[in-house]
Amino acid sequence: MPGQSAVEAFRKKAARRHDALSFGATVTTPASWLEQLWDVWGDGRAIATRSQRLLGFFKALDNTPDLSSSSGMASMLMRLANGGLGSRELDAALQGECVLEESFGPLLDALRAYEAILAGANLVDPGRAWGVLARRELVSRPMRVSVLGMEASNSLTAFCDSQPGIELEGEGSAQIFPAPAGVRVRFAFPAGGYARSLLLCDLLKEMLESGCSEGGVVVAARNPRVLYESIAPSLAEASVSVAFEGGVPFSATDFGRALLRVRDISTSDSVVACCTDFLLNPFSGVSSDAAYAFDAWARADRLTSKEACIDKMRAMSSSFEYFEELISSPDASVLSGVVEDRVRAAGGVSGAYRAEQLAALSMFRSVAEDARRLDASMDDCFAALEGAQVPSSRIAGESDPLVRVMDSRRAALLESGSFGGVILCDMTSAAYPLNERSDAAAALLKAVGIDVGHSTLADARRVFAAAVALPARELVIERCLKNEDAAETYPAAVVEEFVDLYRNDPTDADEIDNQYALPSCFLSSIIERGEESLYENSAVSHGEQPASLVDEEPSLAHVSEGKLPHLVLPRFLPDGGVLKVPCFSASQIESYLECPQKWFSQRRLRLDDLDEGFGALEMGDFAHHALKRFYERFREEVAPKVTGELLPAARAIMHEVTADLAAEQEARNPSDNRLVPVQELERRQVQELMARLEGYLDLESRLLPGFHPTHFEYEIPVSGAVDYAGYKLIGSIDRIDMDDAGHAVIIDYKGSLSNDYDLYDSEGKERGGKVQALIYAQAVQRLLGLDVVGAIYVSYGRAAQISGAIDVRLEPRHLPGIKAKACTFAQGPLSDLLDATELRVAHALDELLSGEVAPRPARKESCKHCPEISCPQRRG
Ligand code: SF4
Repeated sequence: MPGQSAVEAFRKKAARRHDALSFGATVTTPASWLEQLWDVWGDGRAIATRSQRLLGFFKALDNTPDLSSSSGMASMLMRLANGGLGSRELDAALQGECVLEESFGPLLDALRAYEAILAGANLVDPGRAWGVLARRELVSRPMRVSVLGMEASNSLTAFCDSQPGIELEGEGSAQIFPAPAGVRVRFAFPAGGYARSLLLCDLLKEMLESGCSEGGVVVAARNPRVLYESIAPSLAEASVSVAFEGGVPFSATDFGRALLRVRDISTSDSVVACCTDFLLNPFSGVSSDAAYAFDAWARADRLTSKEACIDKMRAMSSSFEYFEELISSPDASVLSGVVEDRVRAAGGVSGAYRAEQLAALSMFRSVAEDARRLDASMDDCFAALEGAQVPSSRIAGESDPLVRVMDSRRAALLESGSFGGVILCDMTSAAYPLNERSDAAAALLKAVGIDVGHSTLADARRVFAAAVALPARELVIERCLKNEDAAETYPAAVVEEFVDLYRNDPTDADEIDNQYALPSCFLSSIIERGEESLYENSAVSHGEQPASLVDEEPSLAHVSEGKLPHLVLPRFLPDGGVLKVPCFSASQIESYLECPQKWFSQRRLRLDDLDEGFGALEMGDFAHHALKRFYERFREEVAPKVTGELLPAARAIMHEVTADLAAEQEARNPSDNRLVPVQELERRQVQELMARLEGYLDLESRLLPGFHPTHFEYEIPVSGAVDYAGYKLIGSIDRIDMDDAGHAVIIDYKGSLSNDYDLYDSEGKERGGKVQALIYAQAVQRLLGLDVVGAIYVSYGRAAQISGAIDVRLEPRHLPGIKAKACTFAQGPLSDLLDATELRVAHALDELLSGEVAPRPARKESCKHCPEISCPQRRG
């Protein structure tokens, strides 16, 4: 029989019926029978366990250069060994006695290496053990061997055939039968995953009330642990005790996750996420506040090294060092006692949780011990642990469980007819696919003449048939009508076959032409639940949603009266005093004009990323500093303005300036928007930016002849804040150029320009776009008494571009790349435009100070880089 539970169920049933089989027969699993035979007739080697076999395969793969050492490859070797190791056919191939395609060579090499590795540890593969036994006559007196609930493996069949006394009786072809007589069959269809838990809870209560409590109900699910966690609290509240029986992946246990994270830290270059994950694990012994503080610390500086992270981790968590030891070598598993003591002493955890962690720990120890025996590496250990399942159980409720949740294979081993009801969940074609495996292992076995004989459909039929035979009163088959992508689901093939047994004419498609794919005999008893009741479905309860907090719906559009005094924070003066009048920078004002809510989230809530950036902001700062330094030096060493003939000298200075600036970046503070590349691609981006700045000098040599730069990063400090739009204005102006007649042009550097920077659109209408340069132009007029004839944006990006607003007194041909029509202010002197802009800003700032922060994008581009991801007004 396929498993120990099936053996016990069979024995119990036979004993209850006083069946002759209770006395005259030995009921066992193939593995146990092999153990017994091998104990007596074997050659002294021990039969390798699954973990020892896996370690052997991984170690063999390490020594087989033509095959990758991956879990997929190890599983394929396992299938190859299961299919034919120990057989005469595969032995002939292993000994080179048959001609095979060259491509099978590496597989055979790996298999030979695997057997040698096992032999070195005094172990033998089970297939080989059957093969060794088959070469001797062990059973001469008559014996009938019946294979039940499974297909006999090739090695078992070969052994039975080799023994003159054994008559082997297979189970015959796997078949699906109708539900046992007297068992009601129903189908349940939640509309989707959200509706499933509540539907199942309601259904289970109903089944238990209508007689299924005798024997209880088995729920078989694809992912039983997840299902248990979703229904157990609600059922336990209704005094229905529920148990989960099964396994949990090693990597999903807290111990497994902690161990794997520490392994990732040791093998990877980028460790911050792994470190934080370890610190958030209960095994770290660190509070979540401390873990998040570590995360913020490490992410705020791109140059935080792996060593610095590890040093900090060691200082924060004493168990981190134990885990570092544990992953260092299979020998170090002896230190796991310290971790075990901590698990045993941990307070505030359930017994089931503790047992699960101890089971994971014990699995790790056992794999490490196997690795020591096989002289395998720690990497092999981790590879073997990757797909391992830790035995796990949970129970919710005081009494013996009335509901048992498990997977369908486990359910199939239980005693038929011994439960009140059974619910088979997730019965979709996607959850139970029927792909016949066709890989190199199958091809090699076929090439040597071994019929693998294993059919996925036959296997699925056996499991389904056994599950259908379990209930005495009711069988329910459940399938969500839609999957997580809201796409239609289809019944599993075994369900279709089962349904066909109840149809009048299985060839008549009209009979099941409905969304449930069911004949009319089942349609009246269908159980359904929609996904529209969001609260009930997610709370798995029909109770009213309790009000845990009654609060007014917050208004996204307006800051409440009480919070208004904090909307604009006061600015401090150098003497420690406070500027009474609200004070803004031009970029803040521009942001508010783009969208009041965007200003609020960016400037007031500061929804910034935790990570030190490497993007437009940092590149822009670098370029601004470079352009300032360049001109300061150029003016001092060469001339007041770059011209065509001075370009070679200008390029040489820019080259030096950008190189010096790049070299200084690492020493700067991360909060100063420094530009520090940490990857090769980023290093190339910095080189590209430096080259672009040199290239920009071409445009510079043709820009505004007759003008020369007079101010760079011209600062309007808080102490000298200028009156603007009824409030105060501060900021820094990238550059001011002047001619000998006292005309000034305000220049704002940009990495790239869009139409948004133009004054007019293609129909000649004012865009009302970017205003930063116009605001600074007015401030400069007011502060320095200059006659401003242009407020322009100059791009140092790939294309020579200029945009903004210019007076008719400026020649567009002196501004390479400007669209004269879109940027020349036609209605009068530029000061008229500056006054009109100030009026517009005054109105906006009045609104801002009244608390108006509605999401109101000026253009669809405004939403492009907005951090309000869930904003209902988002455009574009
Ligand atoms: S998404 Fe658009 S509308 Fe919403 S806050 Fe951001 S910029 Fe404003």
